[in-house]
Amino acid sequence: MSSPDVLTPEEAADIRSRLDEVAGRTAAAAEASGRSADEVSILLATKTQPAEKIRVAIEHGFDLIGENKVQELVAKAEDLADLPHEAHLIGPLQKNKVNHTLRHAQCIQSVDNLELAEKIANRLDVLDSTIDVFVQVNTSREDSKSGVAPEDAEALVESVRRLDRLRLRGLMTIGLPGSTPEEIRPSYADLRELSARLRESGVLPEEATELSMGMSSDFELAIAEGATMVRIGSSVFGARDYT
Ligand SMILES: *Cc1c(COP(=O)(O)O)cnc(C)c1O
Repeated sequence: MSSPDVLTPEEAADIRSRLDEVAGRTAAAAEASGRSADEVSILLATKTQPAEKIRVAIEHGFDLIGENKVQELVAKAEDLADLPHEAHLIGPLQKNKVNHTLRHAQCIQSVDNLELAEKIANRLDVLDSTIDVFVQVNTSREDSKSGVAPEDAEALVESVRRLDRLRLRGLMTIGLPGSTPEEIRPSYADLRELSARLRESGVLPEEATELSMGMSSDFELAIAEGATMVRIGSSVFGARDYT
């Protein structure tokens, strides 16, 4: 994952100014929805980005990092081991990669089935440890997407709660890919309503208030719908190079 190129001072300055801009827009959106800026955290979605760029961001005070692939999570954890930060897995997790993930992630946002949750809990029993998790919900109602179906979310949340090793922080969703912000907005509203309903009925613990939703193209709308954590990639790091 680590690129051989060292960033130029201009490239590093560019990342810092983009971070400041995103933080300013996040704070403004939080205040517009009657919340304070510190009620919405910014998680950097760092897939495909080299550790050098992530290092600049962490040193600038943005220490919440989200990776999609376990392989990238592991590689960059080693590159960034000297810098305190919190790593979240925000992509699909195969059961055979749970061990690697638990070694390097402080939070798994993509828990979307009970088998996976139990596998994580069993491994944590061996390690005598715990981890933060989000239940990922497929609010876009697309067959191909990861996330538990909204109608099955209640049962999954109930089961996850029974696993003492997992600390449930809230719900996560990804909007429809490639659609306009206004098309995505209802799926963010759905997640907020689901969270409110499950907390009211006592299914979701009182403290599991997190709503992880919103990306570069729509994070202000997500905040308007109640996001407590937005996941930002390209607005900070530019377009991704998948080659
Ligand atoms: C890539 C990614 C993001 C961020 O996307 P951008 O549009 O680059 O901000 C957020 N969440 C998840 C799950 C992602 O994979």
